[in-house]
Amino acid sequence: MGHPGDWPLRFSELVEGFLNLVFPARTACYGCGRPLGEPGFLCRGCYREMRRPFSRVCSRCGKPFLQAGLCGECREEPRYFELSRSLGLYRGVLKKCLYRLKYGGQEFLGKPLGEMMGGLVLEGVLGERRIDVVVPVPLHRQRRRQRGFNQAEVLARAVANRVEAYLSTHWLVREKTTPPLSQASRGERRVLLAGAFRLAEGVHREVLGKRVLLVDDIFTTGATLNECARVLLGGGAAQVFGLTAAIGAQDGDQNHLSTPEK
Ligand SMILES: [Zn+2]
Ligand SMILES: [Zn+2]
Repeated sequence: MGHPGDWPLRFSELVEGFLNLVFPARTACYGCGRPLGEPGFLCRGCYREMRRPFSRVCSRCGKPFLQAGLCGECREEPRYFELSRSLGLYRGVLKKCLYRLKYGGQEFLGKPLGEMMGGLVLEGVLGERRIDVVVPVPLHRQRRRQRGFNQAEVLARAVANRVEAYLSTHWLVREKTTPPLSQASRGERRVLLAGAFRLAEGVHREVLGKRVLLVDDIFTTGATLNECARVLLGGGAAQVFGLTAAIGAQDGDQNHLSTPEK
């Protein structure tokens, strides 16, 4: 028999568990677990931590970078996207959220994250550009079947809603799965990504002249996003921009980014 005082607490926990099940709006911060004043996602502190601005970033891919201008990757590799930006570094709360979204089946996390990503576009991180269509980086159909959803698509849907653009999930087709590219050399990445994506049949007229925003969960080397941008430009898109939830810490340092293949 427990202390009689245990009862109300356990009961309230039970009620909270039930309420969370029925009404997924949370009353506790997803990052630190502290109670929130009103149903929400992150407390102010966790939000600030996630959005902590970088002192300097590569003007093209948005990766934290010590000098002004372009990072090594953007200097030495052809980049097909005009500009790419991210919510924050792949660490802390953001890393936890993305991991749970991707591997923990917590699909609901895509909405608040995607809304924040859309907020970045509204703040003008891509400049005063108009976005016509939001396109998620596709998963291979086999991987999608295993996971039940494409995390990039869940994010992209919320982004499209926030920026009031169309969402197109059928333009790009992923022909093959790729192992983690963060440890691969540039040459290896090129080989692994060759033929990984193609434009779907019959969508040329839709793609023609559009300003596309490609959405993915993590920007590591940018090779995947870049390859998708190349395919879209080849299909007649006017411009392609990138937006990811997280980005790797610094040029050449990808050790903390090794995640299972997608
Ligand atoms: Zn918090
Ligand atoms: Zn760069």
